[in-house]
Amino acid sequence: MKTQICFDMDGTIADLYGVENWLAYLLAEDTTPYDVARPLVKLNVLARRLNRLQARGYDLVIVSWLCRDGAEQYNAEVTTAKLNWLNRHLPSVKWNAIHIVEYGTPKQTFCKTPADVLFDDEEPNRIAWNKGDAYAPEKIFEIFKENLTRYIEHRPLMNVVDRKIGY
Ligand SMILES: [Mg+2]
Repeated sequence: MKTQICFDMDGTIADLYGVENWLAYLLAEDTTPYDVARPLVKLNVLARRLNRLQARGYDLVIVSWLCRDGAEQYNAEVTTAKLNWLNRHLPSVKWNAIHIVEYGTPKQTFCKTPADVLFDDEEPNRIAWNKGDAYAPEKIFEIFKENLTRYIEHRPLMNVVDRKIGY
């Protein structure tokens, strides 16, 4: 089983919550915020790092929740909007898996190996990711340096450092 590098979308790579009146749109079952959300990180740089890692044997995975209490039709539209967003903003990344799942689905369900990494803006998701390591989005580029592969190979050392600074 390959080590997975997993990403949340909303609030992690897509600035859904930065869209004006995002909640009103969602309550009205309008997908606009998912369509127009701006990137939260430099996606061209991220794509290069990810593609290099994938070439070295890591799996790239999206684990993203649908809207809370979304009706079936709206969930389908949100799924399409999220897939479109990924295609538009990270066109060079060929994801190994894209899990767009019901709101509240435990993300650790998708954690398969002790080395799997999750990037997620929600702390409860990071805490629940109990097999591997989970990080806030602000840490993406701290971790995705040129030598990410080396970082993963040296995970135990990094774990110690990480706990010291509160993650
Ligand atoms: Mg999120």
